[in-house]
Amino acid sequence: MISLLISLAGRVILLLKNPPNQLFVPNELNASTLIFVSVFTFLLTAGFIMMVCQRLFYDLKVAANTDVLTRLLNRRAMMHQLEIVMNQFYRSDRQFAIILIDVDFFKRVNDVYGHDAGDIVLMHLAQILQTKMRQIDSASRWGGEEFLILLPDTTLNQAKEIAERLRYYVETNPTPSNIQITISLGIAVIRQHGNSLESLITAADHALYAAKRNGRNQVAIAD
Ligand code: GH3
Ligand code: MG
Ligand code: MG
Repeated sequence: MISLLISLAGRVILLLKNPPNQLFVPNELNASTLIFVSVFTFLLTAGFIMMVCQRLFYDLKVAANTDVLTRLLNRRAMMHQLEIVMNQFYRSDRQFAIILIDVDFFKRVNDVYGHDAGDIVLMHLAQILQTKMRQIDSASRWGGEEFLILLPDTTLNQAKEIAERLRYYVETNPTPSNIQITISLGIAVIRQHGNSLESLITAADHALYAAKRNGRNQVAIAD
């Protein structure tokens, strides 16, 4: 861009110093200036369009992988992450765990405080998950008031510790508007509780419902 402007300015100065009899006379200088300007303008426009497309593509990718309310990964993005760790498990035997989380009696939160307050509670919980899990872990909104956390390179004992820490933190930290919730959590570890994604998620789901049955606000481990 700058070089285009400099060359055009140079051309104007040259023309002023040395005014031709006819400005549009077909000579070498005019022809090469025309070609130079055309090529440069084309490259500039193409570069700009490419930049805009790249930005749009990035925004689109983020939007396709992000949950609008909580800004966590959405289910589709988490499935992709799970496929990656599953492949690593098959290839290099790298263990991982998942924690399925469900808000206890969330319907009551909506009924008592309203749907908007319910949304704020979900955002609050998402922020806790995001800030209290380890850097290597990733949290997603799995569905309505359900969340799934992926813990790469994690043993059952480590997963238990993390789940218990999250459960306690949620219980003892109400929202700024003082709505207190609790969560139930189901843990499943690859190989120990399932050898495929489907069986692992089902195992975590069963554990979650065992936690619900046993009184909620607790961590349960898959069979
Ligand atoms: P449980 O302890 O057995 O999980 O009880 P629960 O009330 O949490 O379970 P239930 O599945 O009956 O209720 C879930 C509620 O979550 C119902 C639905 O309206 C609400 N919900 C789902 N998604 C959203 C959301 O995005 N925003 C709000 N505010 N509520 C939601
Ligand atoms: Mg639920
Ligand atoms: Mg619930």
